[in-house]
Amino acid sequence: MPKIKKLKSNIVNNIAAGEIIESPFSVLKELIENSIDACSTKIEIFVKNGGLKSIIVKDNGIGIEKDDLELAFDRHTTSKINNKSDLFDIKTLGFRGEALPSIASVSMVTASSISKGSKNGYELVIDAGKNISFLKSPINIGTKIKVDNIFYNIPARKKFLKNSKIELAKISNIVKSYSLSYPNIKFIYHSDEKTILNLSHSNLKQRIIDVFGKKISKSLIPVNYSSKEFVLQGFVGNIDLMRKRRANQFIFLNSRLINDQIISKAIRKPFLSAVHRSEHPFYVVNINIPHNWVDVNVHPNKNEVKFKDEKYILQSIKNGIADSIKNEIKVTPTFFGIDKRFEEEKSTVLDFRDQLVKEVPDDIQKHFVNFEDNKSQIESSEDEKLPETPFNQESLYYDIVDVWQIHNKYLLTEISSGLLIIDQHVAHERILYEIAKNNIDKNGLESQSLLFPQYIEFQENEYTHIIELFPYLNNLGFRIREFGENTIIIESSPIETPFGEEENIINEILDLYIKYRDINSSFIEKMCATYACKAAIKAGEKLENQEMRHLINRLFLTKNPYYCPHGRPIIINLTEEELDERFERK
Ligand code: ADP
Ligand code: MG
Repeated sequence: MPKIKKLKSNIVNNIAAGEIIESPFSVLKELIENSIDACSTKIEIFVKNGGLKSIIVKDNGIGIEKDDLELAFDRHTTSKINNKSDLFDIKTLGFRGEALPSIASVSMVTASSISKGSKNGYELVIDAGKNISFLKSPINIGTKIKVDNIFYNIPARKKFLKNSKIELAKISNIVKSYSLSYPNIKFIYHSDEKTILNLSHSNLKQRIIDVFGKKISKSLIPVNYSSKEFVLQGFVGNIDLMRKRRANQFIFLNSRLINDQIISKAIRKPFLSAVHRSEHPFYVVNINIPHNWVDVNVHPNKNEVKFKDEKYILQSIKNGIADSIKNEIKVTPTFFGIDKRFEEEKSTVLDFRDQLVKEVPDDIQKHFVNFEDNKSQIESSEDEKLPETPFNQESLYYDIVDVWQIHNKYLLTEISSGLLIIDQHVAHERILYEIAKNNIDKNGLESQSLLFPQYIEFQENEYTHIIELFPYLNNLGFRIREFGENTIIIESSPIETPFGEEENIINEILDLYIKYRDINSSFIEKMCATYACKAAIKAGEKLENQEMRHLINRLFLTKNPYYCPHGRPIIINLTEEELDERFERK
């Protein structure tokens, strides 16, 4: 066994950096936390090349005294706690005294600071953990920390960094998170010479609007709940802000950003009886509890926490959210623990190969006269020109005798062996899905000009993705242009899109893309399915007789009239035999 040696401080710092500093966003997180702990009212952030080249955080806080500046970069040096008992009552964001030495050990750091009341400021330069210079600095307020070339001295770590776009998205998310947690602090955020956020002092509602855009204001439901010393405050989004991925969910515990799946689940639970798919709510909430009810010293990155009485906290969160949304969102009173339907994410079924009957069964086919003859005719006529609206074609291809619509949702028609019940929404969804899939790789879908072009504003990181999607959206029938300031303008949309659905379709496709991060054939299929689902007629829409017939005709021309692209059944066939049996005729 080799002799035991004490590790050199540089190596210790490198090991600590491995735990705290994952990538540029974690550097930024630690620096922002330090600025907040220093009572700053204004924090300015500059990043270059997604933080890979440099990150600067400049604040107007209390500053660091001359004698403390070098000390701040030593390991386990902190001004925030003094003794063991402080550890159980942590009021500041930092307390471990590890961030600055860890950052300095894996990059080149220039730290300038002037403490309140001092005449002179000082600047310390540290390169890969080694102090290079300590000089007077012209800085006149607060602290400015510049971090260059993260991991340049640890190539093995550098290899694991993502490209600058992905790193930038993570950085933007951190800035967004802290700006939401501290609306009373002014945040200015620049990336590569561009100002992305310029947020003045505000209250939480206005801060949310400043970060996410004006439109969000009508969908915000305030949360204001307290029970004993537990206080839950903030905003949750109404149903229209539900997204397929867990985006835009911000939880702060005593103003500390945390990432805790159990708390996320507790917040989502009261929504469950109101959402019908694997959707996730929008929220920005702050949980306030006495500092000694929680241990934040669980993990070096301080994202995870441990509660003394977790059951009480989780129940209070559920009560608080349920209370806030009960008048806005129709939730049934039995939501706690009973509705298991939405617990697991339902996977989308897009591959019908094993699951489905390929052909229309004979007994159904024979009721539609000249099925095969007419099929080729329709296909060629549809190739030439798609109908301008879903149901404006005069001719009826099959001899459907009568169709009835019930509850503005289901279509009923008689066939010789019984009764067909068709779900109008999924039937139309299947038709649109196949049209989209058949045409997207060829000439693209036909497009109709919008009378009123639509503008959609995105967040910075979403905007870069939406631009990458332009060619695919174009093939789907959307004519879109960049309009500047993270905004796009939609000039035309696929021919069967109902007015007003354009933005929803584009947002859902964007969510998909952000989730899959890859444009392959399965993404294209899912994109077609998303479009079809959003553009299809909805349950609740009254249809004219001719529209119903046209819908059924078109349905039976699809390759698979039995299941919608998400795997839900389109047709239920009640046979005459079954009816006889139920009426006890046999
Ligand atoms: P911690 O935040 O856990 O104390 P850090 O390594 O992040 O540890 O910082 C070490 C110390 O440096 C802090 O305790 C604080 O005294 C000082 N410090 C760091 N950043 C700032 C800042 N922006 N303004 C004032 N003091 C700071
Ligand atoms: Mg700190």
